[in-house]
Amino acid sequence: MKKIYCDISATTPVNESVIDFMTSIHRSTFGNPSSIHKYGQESHIIIEKARIETAKSLNCHQEEIIFTASGTESNNIALEGIIKPGYHIISTTYEHPSVMNVLKSLEKKGTDLTLIKPDTDGKISAKNIEKEICENTKLISVMYANNELGSINNIKKIAEVAKKNQIILHVDAVQCVGKIPIDLNELKIDLMSLSAHKFYGPKGVGALFIRKGIDLKTILNGGGQELNLRPGTENISGIAGLGLSISMACDNIEKNIKYVKNLEEIFIKQLNSYKINYILHIKDRLPGVITIGFPNIDGQSLLIALDLKGIAVSFGSACSSGTTKASQILLDAGIDENLAKSTLRFSFGKIHTEEDVKYVTEQLSIILKRLGAN
Ligand code: PLP
Repeated sequence: MKKIYCDISATTPVNESVIDFMTSIHRSTFGNPSSIHKYGQESHIIIEKARIETAKSLNCHQEEIIFTASGTESNNIALEGIIKPGYHIISTTYEHPSVMNVLKSLEKKGTDLTLIKPDTDGKISAKNIEKEICENTKLISVMYANNELGSINNIKKIAEVAKKNQIILHVDAVQCVGKIPIDLNELKIDLMSLSAHKFYGPKGVGALFIRKGIDLKTILNGGGQELNLRPGTENISGIAGLGLSISMACDNIEKNIKYVKNLEEIFIKQLNSYKINYILHIKDRLPGVITIGFPNIDGQSLLIALDLKGIAVSFGSACSSGTTKASQILLDAGIDENLAKSTLRFSFGKIHTEEDVKYVTEQLSIILKRLGAN
């Protein structure tokens, strides 16, 4: 049976060249990067090379990048590192749990929290953020693109609002890095989180951009690694894998976008030619991410039927799957409850071919007929 993984937003397979590179590092370089001897220095050089590659890919300075153990950890270090009691934070109702749960826990400790809902286009309006700013607002945290909807926020506008009001801006860009160009010299973001496993790098390694002049308090205690913000002996091969995979993604970004957009077009064309009844929720979205409702069809049943045919997609985000409730994120974006329950996320990337997409739509049309779609 054919196996087609259409869940690039959940995670990606690791680039072959990254596997080879990481394996060679595992074999050859094991010194502790903090050691003064040559073994240590060899490891240190590998980490600094990855820092340069990461900074170059995002157009920032290498001193502004720290490596972490995940996107989750980057979000925790950024938010907990900034917030002090009495601060007011503005964020959104649709943040990933690694942001939302930190904010909720800070709220319990006395932080004032305002959450903005997305508009029906799935985006957070800069105007709505501006309306909520008060004297104590010290942080705005908005994700770059939403993991369930695929909608992309206008971070440039949100950054302008933040700068005008001298408020620090944190952006969870985990879904975006490697999918759309990000220029941190142009975009006035102060803190930005990313994660290697979303751009064909290894799992368990992330990074945090911290703009020069932004002071974070330490939330993890240990040695002085990574500016004392992420202590612990570094994951040398993982960091090297992040460096190589971010370069591969960002050096070829326009070409990759064009390739993936073509797959998306074929997907939609095929749905139309099979006369499938569907509703595409978000128009302006991340390349390759298609969040789509099939009216009167149970999304979970469709997901399972596709899985039995070797096609992997997602219902809600991977983190909230296992529940049969409609996704709150879809509901907040104005999608009706029944349609939200009929919605799946297909996400395509560079691993897919046109034939893969055609196979997926062919199977989809057969299954939908069987499930009684009209
Ligand atoms: N933020 C967003 C928007 C995500 O989609 C994810 C993962 O799915 C994360 C953060 C967490 O990243 P990680 O899996 O590296 O902890």
